[in-house]
Amino acid sequence: MTKFIPYGCQCIDEDDIKAVVEVLKSDWITTGPAVDEFEKAITEFVGVEYGVAVSSGTAALHTAMYAIGIAPGDEVIIPTMTFTATATAVVFQGGRPVFCDVDAGKLLIDPNQVEAKITPKTKAIIAVDYTGQTCQYDVLREIADKNNLVLVADACHSIGGEYKGQKVGTLADITTFSFHPVKHITTGEGGMVVTNNAKYYQRMRMFRNHGITLDQRQRCEKGQWFYEVEDVGYNYRITDIQCALGTSQLKKLPGWIKRRQEIALRYDESFKGLSEIQPLDVTPYGSHAYHLYVVRVLGADRNEVFSFLRDANIGVNVHYIPVHLHPLYRRHFGTKEGLCPVAEAAYIQILSFPIFPMMTDGDVDTVIQAVYEAMAKNT
Ligand SMILES: *Cc1c(COP(=O)(O)O)cnc(C)c1O
Repeated sequence: MTKFIPYGCQCIDEDDIKAVVEVLKSDWITTGPAVDEFEKAITEFVGVEYGVAVSSGTAALHTAMYAIGIAPGDEVIIPTMTFTATATAVVFQGGRPVFCDVDAGKLLIDPNQVEAKITPKTKAIIAVDYTGQTCQYDVLREIADKNNLVLVADACHSIGGEYKGQKVGTLADITTFSFHPVKHITTGEGGMVVTNNAKYYQRMRMFRNHGITLDQRQRCEKGQWFYEVEDVGYNYRITDIQCALGTSQLKKLPGWIKRRQEIALRYDESFKGLSEIQPLDVTPYGSHAYHLYVVRVLGADRNEVFSFLRDANIGVNVHYIPVHLHPLYRRHFGTKEGLCPVAEAAYIQILSFPIFPMMTDGDVDTVIQAVYEAMAKNT
């Protein structure tokens, strides 16, 4: 039996370990210089003014919702083909996630359907760069501007990607990243929000630290111990230990994306010979960061193929169960089958294959061979 090949996996090398150990030996292990360095490294990489590092990608989304002022009753349009955190971030602020369908080829939010979902209560659109390719940001920007909405990018899949030569992180008013171990670079758990908006930046710095204001003038006048809690905030801080890992990981990101693209190309070439396996469409306008490699299984039962591959030690997965079908959203927001027919039809067919930088060509071929065997058995 071959070893288990997961769908995603972090890569930690000696440089990363050294960077973390240095922090452990220093005076600051949280909210110190390594946090600032990581924020600076990411904002320079992306080409954006401000970055606020937080404890997870989910915290980043929540922080972004706070920054843009989402409040009870507000509606935020999101694609249903995403992780639940995109929707719960809206709910955390008392808002209503309005689920939008996706296009059948790429499973990205369908701009044509976004417009139909806009009401007087709509405040924002969250575009999710599902699998690592960017949404149609110029179209979404036009819709947002015309309707006075904030455009948010959930770029948890797409750090290092591009849209029409512009980097992910600069495509929306505010952008979130995740540094969970299955994502492109990791801090164990962690996330960041990036923006060019100074007001959002100030609000986010406060929000991640209990809603405490950083007014230096007041501290000088009233004493160094003085602070004020200005709003409901959270402890969404990230540690220096984690951020040292993040800064070290970021150096390797471009090479890792290149490797992900090579793996995807190897899959693409092999599956040309297999009519039952149809990779999602790739946009002509971007650089795909390939967080996920997703195919549709046609003319065979996806669940049977899934089981066969799991039995063969291939860590296939399904991304995602359309979020509006989860009991929470059905119960609180009355969502049900038929709301997003394209995503629902895709959900029955999709399968994610292993993709991570440390996969060897041999590992990729092991997956491909198992897929061919699965098809011979199931069709
Ligand atoms: C991973 C992910 C999140 C949440 O990130 P965490 O760091 O796990 O909290 C949110 N949205 C999308 C699209 C993700 O893939």
